[in-house]
Amino acid sequence: MEYTHVRIPKLIKDMIMSEKLFIISNIDKVPEEILYPSKCLKCNSTNLEVLYTIHDGLIEVLKCKNCGYKFLRVSRKISKEELQSLFLKIGVGIFAGFALNALIYIIRESK
Ligand SMILES: [Zn+2]
Repeated sequence: MEYTHVRIPKLIKDMIMSEKLFIISNIDKVPEEILYPSKCLKCNSTNLEVLYTIHDGLIEVLKCKNCGYKFLRVSRKISKEELQSLFLKIGVGIFAGFALNALIYIIRESK
């Protein structure tokens, strides 16, 4: 996977890293549709393509073949402890990808 550098305010990075620990300790309260979406978060299509896998295949970057939306998911159901270990390892960028899933999920559910 190709990477890029993004400048973010240190305060924001500190906020993310500190709330990351809160989210990891409550990972069992995160809806499965945010962690393991089986359908496109925007159009509900199941016609998905895996573009990349990272973290030993545990995280997939998907592209919806219907609307083109790209999003992340955990590739297979894993235990709470494995999820916590995975989320401790991921960086700010991948964490932001899952935060985006959560926002899209909230918007979708509020319709
Ligand atoms: Zn879609």
